[in-house]
Amino acid sequence: VKQESFDLVVVGAGPAGISAAVEASRWGVSVALVDENPAPGGNIYRQPPKEFAPLAPSAGERGAALRRALDASPVRRFPETTVWGAFRPDVLEAVRGGDSFALEGRFVIVAAGAYDRPVPVPGWTLPGVLTVGGAQTLLKGQRMLPGRRILFAGTGPLLLVVAAQYAEAGAEIVAVADAARIGSLAGHVPGLLSAPALLRDGMRYRWRLLRRRVPWLSQSVLLRVEGRGEVESASIVQIDDSGQRRTGTERRFEVDTVCVGYGLVPSVELLQLLGCALRYDEAAACWIPRRNDDFETSVPSVFAVGDGAGVAGAVVAADEGRVAGLAVARALGRIGPPEAQRLQRPLRRRLRRLARFRAAMEAAYGLPQHLLDGVTADTIVCRCEEVRRREIDEAIGDGALTPAQLKAWTRVGMGPCQGRMCSLPVAELLSRSTERPIAELGPPSVRPPVKPVPIGALTDTD
Ligand SMILES: Cc1cc2nc3c(=O)[nH]c(=O)nc-3n(C[C@H](O)[C@H](O)[C@H](O)COP(=O)(O)OP(=O)(O)OC[C@H]3O[C@@H](n4cnc5c(N)ncnc54)[C@H](O)[C@@H]3O)c2cc1C
Repeated sequence: VKQESFDLVVVGAGPAGISAAVEASRWGVSVALVDENPAPGGNIYRQPPKEFAPLAPSAGERGAALRRALDASPVRRFPETTVWGAFRPDVLEAVRGGDSFALEGRFVIVAAGAYDRPVPVPGWTLPGVLTVGGAQTLLKGQRMLPGRRILFAGTGPLLLVVAAQYAEAGAEIVAVADAARIGSLAGHVPGLLSAPALLRDGMRYRWRLLRRRVPWLSQSVLLRVEGRGEVESASIVQIDDSGQRRTGTERRFEVDTVCVGYGLVPSVELLQLLGCALRYDEAAACWIPRRNDDFETSVPSVFAVGDGAGVAGAVVAADEGRVAGLAVARALGRIGPPEAQRLQRPLRRRLRRLARFRAAMEAAYGLPQHLLDGVTADTIVCRCEEVRRREIDEAIGDGALTPAQLKAWTRVGMGPCQGRMCSLPVAELLSRSTERPIAELGPPSVRPPVKPVPIGALTDTD
């Protein structure tokens, strides 16, 4: 297998990875920047194929500035390249167009971003059910709407953003069912005022929906989706302040598409393969890596930045990337410690301020309790292996005590998504049945390949 060596290998070319790569390269660090997409930008600054460019809105000044900085840097780019494994902390296994190769880095920065939190409900595997992130990728990447009559359900800023983008793209949105209480932000004003520009952005999206008279139903969650072979209807139900369903409040909508978005969860699989210690973040209800002030993980010389280390948005991602890029340049002796510290100081200050904003958002848009109450015995929980709740409950009844045991006994998490879609709901079900906190159950086990790769790429020994 071919191998190339660099001072630093950065995985992920979103705001976090680009900022880390550009900052480190500014100090003479040789950098490889790897991303599975054809163009840099990550999720927020995703670009459509060149042929679609005339139809697409620009990614905004922030995205353009990042790309300009990258273009002007000596960073070596590896687009359309997926990192699928790591058998040592300094060597990453990658594949591009069926060719497998290795990238060696004295330092590694993982900036792998996040993905939509999976929330199973009866009927969620029907064609026509999408995550809001997937729905946005379709709109941003292909300028396409997935259907005509659409129900949005979930909570948090991405739900608001994508619903507004869909309304403006001409979708008929029958309703946005938001699990949060109306005015939920009001109780968190001091924290929210730590980032007034972000708050203003949120208000603007809300106004864009109001102007188009899109019905906004607060304290409502998706109950089930129905249809013969594809989505024909979806039902929501109101919840009380503790997340319990209110009887008699069910509403059914005839729709052909349902977009579900209960927030994002960090992609930590690669960090797990690299041996980095994780901790369960109760407020965000997901696993995140343990990091020091420079965002170095428990494995020396491996850093984790951006949404992949805790979902906090593009500004935080870019600042964390720069702090880590400077730390690598300092560790390699390309910049003196006082100079590195001087440059890191304002970034850290802003990160502390944005942490207050994030805490307020998490409190306002927390994941509702009892979200899995609607998962019936017949509901598929692991989509890849088609494992239903009944089989999971039976395995727990037979004595399965850990996520790893459940995986071995039922095959949950063994499919192509490697547990990204089912490990959190499975952990929640296990935690409830065994009355043990998820933190105590431990993170799901991870094996390479962390992303699907062509089998030929792994077997080719030329
Ligand atoms: C689908 C989606 C849509 C979003 N839309 C918005 C929005 O409209 N507005 C907003 O403010 N925020 C949005 N966000 C949140 C925002 O994207 C993030 O807060 C911000 O982009 C985080 O930047 P990042 O660099 O940490 O990660 P990302 O921008 O997510 O970049 C991570 C990159 O790493 C790549 N990657 C991951 N694993 C591998 C691997 N193994 N090999 C190769 N490449 C890999 C990914 O493909 C991706 O390009 C969205 C998030 C998601 C997931």
